[in-house]
Amino acid sequence: MKHVNAALFVPFLGCPHRCSFCDQKAITGRETTVTPQDVTEVAQTAIASGADTKHGQIAFFGGSFTMLRRETMTALLAAAFPFVENGAFAGIRISTRPDAVSDDVLSLLKRYCVTTVELGCQSTDDAVLQRNGRGHTRADVENACRLVKAHGFELGVQMMTGLPGDSDAGALRTADELLSFGADTARIYPTLVLRGTPLAADYLAGRYAPQTLDEAVALCAKLAPRFEENGVPVIRLGLHAVASLRNNLLAGPFHPALRELVDGAVYLERMQNLLHSRPQGVHTITVGSRFLSRAAGHNGRNKAFFKDKGYTIRLQGDDALRLYEIRG
Ligand code: SF4
Repeated sequence: MKHVNAALFVPFLGCPHRCSFCDQKAITGRETTVTPQDVTEVAQTAIASGADTKHGQIAFFGGSFTMLRRETMTALLAAAFPFVENGAFAGIRISTRPDAVSDDVLSLLKRYCVTTVELGCQSTDDAVLQRNGRGHTRADVENACRLVKAHGFELGVQMMTGLPGDSDAGALRTADELLSFGADTARIYPTLVLRGTPLAADYLAGRYAPQTLDEAVALCAKLAPRFEENGVPVIRLGLHAVASLRNNLLAGPFHPALRELVDGAVYLERMQNLLHSRPQGVHTITVGSRFLSRAAGHNGRNKAFFKDKGYTIRLQGDDALRLYEIRG
């Protein structure tokens, strides 16, 4: 049975930053909209659903968890803690900014059974970070990653592609650096232009052109294997297709099945390399058993691509092959 997380989105309504891509609204007087009661209810609902929560986590998403006031943060953690203590969940994950972790705060997280700390790094290029109003530096990213690892947490890293001032080479450097800082999991988010953001103003004024979907897929198809083949699973590619995103989306490479597109692109390139010196006809290619549909491409587009060129691809699964590995 697949495990489930109890996920809570914890907006930090008092964020002092103004990242170019963020549509967080101005301060509303409340620090966050999530209460300890919400934590209890979400956890209980997940347990009552009968899903496997014992291997899941209570997850506080939102990106600025450790910037909350100490009382607010500990109240949320205290509401989650009993569910970990009694074994209903395996742990707690939080996400925060690289400049909002310290020995002190990490020690506190440890006391409440937090197991995973995700850092919204976005880039390791100081010029890109500065241009996008992130308010932290590459050194903050490196220090935070090393601190999180030193305290024994699983380290999740989040990076973006297509930010103003960034390039494909820059994104690949970011991935390599995040790997060298000890990432355990990664999330990759192509930059989207949301209404009401500084980036929207730049886009509307013609000062910023987002990646096209094809460009984002091509770059992510280089980044994802970089992480995966270094033992770092990419646990998310692209933002969830929630209604608020669709309503606020002005431009950018959004696709609800971005992961399938990216994985399909990786397999397509590898199959092309495998077949380029082979004659047309029928070819059997082996991929990981769980990845047969990824290898076939989104809506079977990889098979169709080869068929156009006179190749009929037969895919077969082998449990021993990992994501992106092929044999033929
Ligand atoms: S993305 Fe930037 S502006 Fe938005 S909440 Fe996070 S730190 Fe604040």
